[in-house]
Amino acid sequence: MPSTAILWFRRDLRVHDHPALAAALAAADHVVPVFVIDDALLAGRWPAPNRAWFMRESLVALSGALVERGAALRILRGRPEIVIPALARDTGATDLFLTRDATPYGRARDRAVATRLEADDVAVHAKRGLYVHEPDDVATRDGRPYTVYGPYRRAWEALPRRDVLPAPGRIPGPPGARPDAIPDLGGPSADPALIPAPGEPAARARLAAWVERGLEAYADRRDRLDADDGTSRLSQDLRWGLLSAVEVLERAAGPGDGRRVFAAELAWREFYAHVLWHHPRVLREPFQASLAALPWRDDPEAVDAWREGRTGYPVVDAAMRQLRASGHVHNRARMIAASFLAKHLLADWRLGEAEFMRHLTDGDVASNNGGWQWTASTGTDAQPYFRVFNPILQGRRFDPDGDYVRRWVPEVRGIAGAAVHEPWTLDAAAQAAAGVRVGTDYPAPIVDHATARERALAVYGATKAATRDG
Ligand code: FAD
Repeated sequence: MPSTAILWFRRDLRVHDHPALAAALAAADHVVPVFVIDDALLAGRWPAPNRAWFMRESLVALSGALVERGAALRILRGRPEIVIPALARDTGATDLFLTRDATPYGRARDRAVATRLEADDVAVHAKRGLYVHEPDDVATRDGRPYTVYGPYRRAWEALPRRDVLPAPGRIPGPPGARPDAIPDLGGPSADPALIPAPGEPAARARLAAWVERGLEAYADRRDRLDADDGTSRLSQDLRWGLLSAVEVLERAAGPGDGRRVFAAELAWREFYAHVLWHHPRVLREPFQASLAALPWRDDPEAVDAWREGRTGYPVVDAAMRQLRASGHVHNRARMIAASFLAKHLLADWRLGEAEFMRHLTDGDVASNNGGWQWTASTGTDAQPYFRVFNPILQGRRFDPDGDYVRRWVPEVRGIAGAAVHEPWTLDAAAQAAAGVRVGTDYPAPIVDHATARERALAVYGATKAATRDG
């Protein structure tokens, strides 16, 4: 009798460089690919229409790629520990292949599924595939996890990489198998025209274009808010596994600062997965115990102004409006907006972490938490607490002509050049000439930068000192 293996897709929605797919093909005569629509994730802690839509459209592309190769994607809905064992029984599968996940939810889910399957004599094979190096591959000489990025990156770079695998030409499914329809999961909350096209073929085209045209200048251009093509825009592709990190790194490898800095950014992604793997508590609390007692201010009106892009600081508002409108924010703008929430408003960074997760198409539990804890100075290798981004200087430096701000904040479009970063400094005549009245058409700053900075330094400093003394 021909043998059957299940291949369970999750955040690895591709056929190129897919170790679990290759292993399933080597192990069995027939492969049954499946995706489980897990309502615990869709409606869970961080529901996000942009991600649900992007995932659904990427599944459509995956289903097509599987049909072309002879297999039919099954779509199940429900709790994985129930529906996957039922599928194994229905298909007579003896093996299940999957790509290892690194989140606490994913790890607990996979353990629950494995326990049930093993009780039914189905062998579970968890393969690498989300990262260049698995979160638990990288360790200090005495086997401990890293908490500082620099040495982590050096250890990460020194590890040998596996070879990139080709997409299989054929994936034989059981005879007569038909792909399931992929349910509509609702539209995105952002404008779909501003979200990169979903699906593996579109992601592969983005990677090719980036390597050819953008990568070389990455070191010089990556911080420019006004450049649409200064960064790769591959984060949603890595998040959903439309591209494998090994292949991205392989294609981008080579001499030159652009390539070196790009590889270092991929290492940040893996560093945060490493931190989450070893310290799942970061999803609930600051990594640094000395800041656990930080007295965050409870000011819902200020937090709403931040969320809606009404702080009166155009670069912060541009970031938050870009988030809502497009499901994406430039990395520099993420840092500026996050710093404003945590330091200027002294609002709990977890509110910001959740807000980003609600909208980001690339929303990734590990990278988002890492980015927030870095900016709020509560994380592993975070920026020092006394560094408080000045939104005016950040704007002038990284959006020198103000084009980024004018794109996302139409109220200030009439202000030419870098003056757009501080509209409240224009006198009444200049405001009238620019067609904006600060305080009426566009808000005056909700906090004064210098005062907010002093307050943040005082509160962070006192909290740290109290922990040291106590
Ligand atoms: P590029 O500059 O082209 O970088 C290439 C790839 O490297 C990215 O696609 C991404 O996978 C990875 N990368 C780059 N910078 C970082 C970084 N600082 N940390 C981790 N990975 C990085 N990234 C996410 O993928 N998901 C998130 O939910 C997320 N939340 C963030 C929240 C905050 C507060 C901050 C400051 C950063 C966050 N980042 C997150 C990291 C970074 O902002 C995005 O990865 C980047 O903006 C994506 O654009 P890109 O693909 O053009 O990046």
